[in-house]
Amino acid sequence: MTALLLGALGLTLSLVVPGILATARWPGRAPAAAVALWQSVTLTGVLCALGVVLAAPQELVSELGSDRPVGAAALLLALAVAAVIIVRLLVSLARVTLRSRARRARHRLLVDLLDSVEQHGELPAEVPAGLRVLDGPLPFAYCLPGRSPRVVLSDGALRVLDTAQVAAVIAHEQAHLRHRHDLVMESFTAFYRAVPWPLRSRAPLDAVHLLLEMVADDAARRRCGAAPLRTALALLGDAVSPDSPAEFGGAAAERRHRLDRLAAAEPRAVTRTVSLLAIGGAVGLLVLPTVILVVPWLDRALSAWPL
Ligand SMILES: [Zn+2]
Repeated sequence: MTALLLGALGLTLSLVVPGILATARWPGRAPAAAVALWQSVTLTGVLCALGVVLAAPQELVSELGSDRPVGAAALLLALAVAAVIIVRLLVSLARVTLRSRARRARHRLLVDLLDSVEQHGELPAEVPAGLRVLDGPLPFAYCLPGRSPRVVLSDGALRVLDTAQVAAVIAHEQAHLRHRHDLVMESFTAFYRAVPWPLRSRAPLDAVHLLLEMVADDAARRRCGAAPLRTALALLGDAVSPDSPAEFGGAAAERRHRLDRLAAAEPRAVTRTVSLLAIGGAVGLLVLPTVILVVPWLDRALSAWPL
């Protein structure tokens, strides 16, 4: 029974919940808490899969009343499958992390070489140490996370934005760097690649990406105000190609969503309540199945296993 319930919960979390969560409007009111909920949904889905693998053979054996060797073989098989799931996730995480580190290191080298920040007197008074300016007419901005992070602006961006708007863009990129949004995205990318294709969905990846943009928008809005950020988003977004969503601006639909959101300030009480509910949901999702299903099963299984 435990395996069936965990299986049903796991399938719901990986096939039904992402669709509902990705189209809901409320995550925009509490983006950081919504990211935590996505993390909880994903992690609980993995734990459910492991739970099914470990519980199903034991339940089947005790149902059929088989003897010791069959039970021991079923246990070994279950442990092997669970190990494969865990190793697959870890390998995927290592691969994604190493690749993006290497790509960023090369990219950092290039922007350091091409940098022309000293020729730009129009920058805001407080520019971060890692700010680089690239020559070129296209207005864009992005950041390179890591141990020595960079915020990259184009000459074109400095030409279309005023000082307050540049400050808002820098504040947005710095929020990405400060909160290590790259690590959050890497964990979701690694999970996406590790999941077998019938269960694979891009919904968490895209939704979490948009939510992290909103978190950075909120940080920039708090520091520089909504108006310069909105204008910067509208001006830079048009020049950014839609297939590079990591840049300031991103895809058109995503940008519209962020602009609408910046136009209307949500009352603090609302955002706080939505955040608390989402965090409560995230914690509950992780804890409840463990307490209600896994602990009693573990208790029965440990006394029943033939080893
Ligand atoms: Zn951003």
